[in-house]
Amino acid sequence: MSDISSASPSRLNRTGRVLIVDDTPTNRLILTKLLLKAGHEVYEAEDGLTAIALAQTYQPAIILLDIMMPGLNGYAVCKQLRSQPETAAIPIVFLSALDEPFDKVQAFQYGAADYITKPFQPEEVLARVCHQIDLQLAKQEQKRLYAELQNQVQERNQLLKLANNQLIEGTLTDHLTRLPNRLAFVKRLSKIMAHRKTHPDALFALVFLDCDRFKRINDSLGHQVGDQLLKGIARRLCKVQCDRASIDTVARFGGDEFALLVTNISSHSDVVRLVKEVVKSLSIPFNLVSREIYIDASIGLVWGDTTYTKAEHLLRDADVAMYQAKDSSLSPYCWFEADMHSKEMHLLQLETDLRLALERKEFELYYQPIVNLYKLEIVGFEALVRWQHPTKGLIPPGDFVGFAEDTGFIVQLGEQVLKMACEHVSQWEQAGLIAPQITVSVNMAAQQLLQPDILERIQTIIKDAGIAPHRLRLELTERSIINNRAFVDEVLRALQQRNIQLSIDDFGTGYSALSYLHTLPVSCLKVDRSFVQPITAQPSSLGVVPLIINIARTMGMQVIAEGIENRVQLKQLQQLGCEYGQGYLFQKAVPADNAIELLNRAVTGWESWRDAAGA
Ligand code: C2E
Ligand code: MG
Ligand code: MG
Repeated sequence: MSDISSASPSRLNRTGRVLIVDDTPTNRLILTKLLLKAGHEVYEAEDGLTAIALAQTYQPAIILLDIMMPGLNGYAVCKQLRSQPETAAIPIVFLSALDEPFDKVQAFQYGAADYITKPFQPEEVLARVCHQIDLQLAKQEQKRLYAELQNQVQERNQLLKLANNQLIEGTLTDHLTRLPNRLAFVKRLSKIMAHRKTHPDALFALVFLDCDRFKRINDSLGHQVGDQLLKGIARRLCKVQCDRASIDTVARFGGDEFALLVTNISSHSDVVRLVKEVVKSLSIPFNLVSREIYIDASIGLVWGDTTYTKAEHLLRDADVAMYQAKDSSLSPYCWFEADMHSKEMHLLQLETDLRLALERKEFELYYQPIVNLYKLEIVGFEALVRWQHPTKGLIPPGDFVGFAEDTGFIVQLGEQVLKMACEHVSQWEQAGLIAPQITVSVNMAAQQLLQPDILERIQTIIKDAGIAPHRLRLELTERSIINNRAFVDEVLRALQQRNIQLSIDDFGTGYSALSYLHTLPVSCLKVDRSFVQPITAQPSSLGVVPLIINIARTMGMQVIAEGIENRVQLKQLQQLGCEYGQGYLFQKAVPADNAIELLNRAVTGWESWRDAAGA
């Protein structure tokens, strides 16, 4: 590139280094004077060879080149200059007396930048020289900008690469513990699975670990302590990994879930040995916020079978096995077995179905009469839920209530049940079908009772149905009362004040402290069916039933015996002084419409039993 760094930036007097090549001394003299005066730096050559040498040495900004010269003519000089890299870009302006268009065209074909005819006008020469220097400057500027741009692009590319690496690292790392995260684990697991396909000896297993009661620690001691604990767990797992070469990867999946990928093993017992070490390392208390925190883990194990095609499937099964371990009190770990999956699938389906059923209001109430065992009169009904499944038909509560309790659906379900029961009572009342003393019992689960606004909810339902509160009897199990004493105590008192009656259901199965029950505003005990069922004519078959009846009496409570199936049981209960009962002997639960008919029909059928009790 020619050096025009000496060029002035002003457009009118742009200057630079000019090489004049002309064999006529006068021409050189005139041009030199002219250009020097205009501020240019001037070099002169009297022939072609000198011109080439000077051009290479001084790198002029422009060359004014005569065509007709002895020795090398202008065209030949031009050709040589163009062929050499150091001089190839220097603009060459031909100066010649040849004025034919042919000559000019030929000059341009040789690579001329411009053409001036002799005799020349000084202004024209100056203007053209200036113009060429301008063009040169513009080219240089363009080149500089291009280089700058390239630098910027390169810099940006590097930054982008860096950011990309950070991004990849970020997406594969758990920020809290700096362990690989789930995504990284799945990637690694997929690789190991693929390797196993071609290397039958490359056995592996997956260990999935979930901390028990972590949420409680988090809630009671705060998230910061929870985070510290998770970091501590991560450190311990890494320590086990350092000691045991067979742990390929330790990852945190989020929350209190960790996973270990175990390779280089030859049997299940290798994995179990390792898991025992993990359990042992976690059993040492963690010292956090000046207290010792103990943590237990439930661990699901899956053997890396070649039948697995996706890493996700292994994780799914590890999760199932982990939950199985959580449910078991025998061992902190559990191997995945194929039938666990179908159980899980069944529960998943049940959950989906239940959700839909609540939306579509597929639940119905059946009613079982509660009978005065002496007068053999119906004194009330117990509302029992049934699920009218669109394809499976009528499903009894035993098949879904427990699951609904576990999953929390029971709250919504219980509310639907209560509404339906109150609406039925309202319809019966309005039609004048039920006497004022007839009550309807509705089962209520613990979770329902624990809702902070349970009182308002119940009141709204009663009010909307427009029924008298004393019609309603809520059946609560011993367990739900005992487990949540303080709150339940308050709610039960408030319900009593509102004239809603309360019964303890399935009494005798929950080992409740009778002294405590005595303090509660409960008006009725229901003796569980399991105590009634064994009753025969033999006095020894009565078991604890007489005791329960006596206690209830002393506490001023009514007793309802559940599950009376035959006349012997009825007679025994009558003799023990049990005033109320329900059971298949009288009636199974029936749909709402049939229930009300029973009020008229039932007594005639039961009349003959009256004598049996001698009442
Ligand atoms: P539960 O509250 O103790 O209801 C009595 C159960 O005993 C009913 O079963 C009833 O049909 C059955 N039963 C009554 N007499 C006899 C008899 O003589 N022999 C036999 N073998 N069984 C008899 P069901 O309707 O299957 O209800 C089972 C349980 O499901 C109920 O026990 C209750 O704990 C729960 N449940 C039913 N409906 C609801 C509800 O709406 N909410 C809640 N939370 N639980 C409900
Ligand atoms: Mg009940
Ligand atoms: Mg019961």
